[in-house]
Amino acid sequence: MKALIAVLPGDGIGPEVVGQGTRLLRAVAERFGHSFEMAEVPMGGVAIDLTGSPLPAETLALCQRSDAVLLGAVGGPKWDPPAKVRPEQGLLELRKALGLYANLRPVAPFPALYDASSLKPEVLRGVDLLVVRELTGGIYFGEKRRDEHQAFDACVYTVEEVVRVVRAAASLARTRRKRLTSVDKANVLETSRLWRAVTERVVREEFPDVELKHLLVDACAMHLIKRPVDFDVIVTENMFGDILTDEAAMLSGSIGMLPSASLGADRRGLYEPIHGSAPDIAGRGVANPYGTLLSVAMLLRHSLGLEQEARQVEAAVAASIEAGALTADLAPSGTRPMGTQEIGTAVLARL
Ligand code: ATP
Ligand code: MG
Repeated sequence: MKALIAVLPGDGIGPEVVGQGTRLLRAVAERFGHSFEMAEVPMGGVAIDLTGSPLPAETLALCQRSDAVLLGAVGGPKWDPPAKVRPEQGLLELRKALGLYANLRPVAPFPALYDASSLKPEVLRGVDLLVVRELTGGIYFGEKRRDEHQAFDACVYTVEEVVRVVRAAASLARTRRKRLTSVDKANVLETSRLWRAVTERVVREEFPDVELKHLLVDACAMHLIKRPVDFDVIVTENMFGDILTDEAAMLSGSIGMLPSASLGADRRGLYEPIHGSAPDIAGRGVANPYGTLLSVAMLLRHSLGLEQEARQVEAAVAASIEAGALTADLAPSGTRPMGTQEIGTAVLARL
């Protein structure tokens, strides 16, 4: 197949990890007979330095006509407040312009990394869950006010916003173990009562084969580290998802391991590792690229429809990890950590 992929390396370790991502995409194209055109454009802090804007018009235009976007990370101390233009604004604008409303974060810890997690192996065994976080609504985007005596953040959800993300999550559950857990705080929040009612209706009417359970967010936080193996797909609103995905990330040993996808109504998606620009280790060739390589697998699966290729990439990543190809964030003491580039080579060798 032919595809145009927008590549946004971004800041800090972004270019280093994305470099391995594009290398992997080229190898997949070559071995499976596809034609991927990759166009690299500035976004985030580097874009501010070059153009004054974190999301230059050309970058946005390229993303809008591409089949998928691969992003590294944006931000860094150079552009922290009091700087007026922030790299992160570029990402918010891009998500909005592309109509991305569902953020997917799979968590499936590799047995070779159980020791790196703060949880016990018996809790981690068999864990394979996917959190789907709503990205456009909720308290982060509601009206905000503040005076000397008080502050106010409104939490708003429309029926349509809930319907579309629940559909996305239930469709994903259908391709997995067909179990969906909807997380809310319906005992106290009106938006959560709407969320629960809409979820109930959508799943009952459109996904009768998917088993739906509701869980309060506080109970979910506990359950996630006590019996994470119980979960298949979790769907939740913006702020709860923000918190729960970071908690779930801790199951996998290093923040450098985890991929993510942001999807909308059509196939085009934005793929990025969940970690930030890690300025403390940038430029040294030591960053863990696995989160980016697994994001490439998600890109192949969700935007290009190349399920077999996605599985091959995931299998190559798993084999490299089991063979002990690990960067400094994960390499056990006494073993030699590999560099970013070496990990890329180890994965390509197993593809
Ligand atoms: P942001 O605000 O963008 O989330 P942050 O500073 O909160 O950024 P990260 O940039 O993700 O978070 O860094 C948190 C810690 O994890 C840092 O010590 C960083 O070096 C480490 N880290 C992040 N990503 C990786 C990676 N891919 N490989 C190795 N270490 C990483
Ligand atoms: Mg952070």
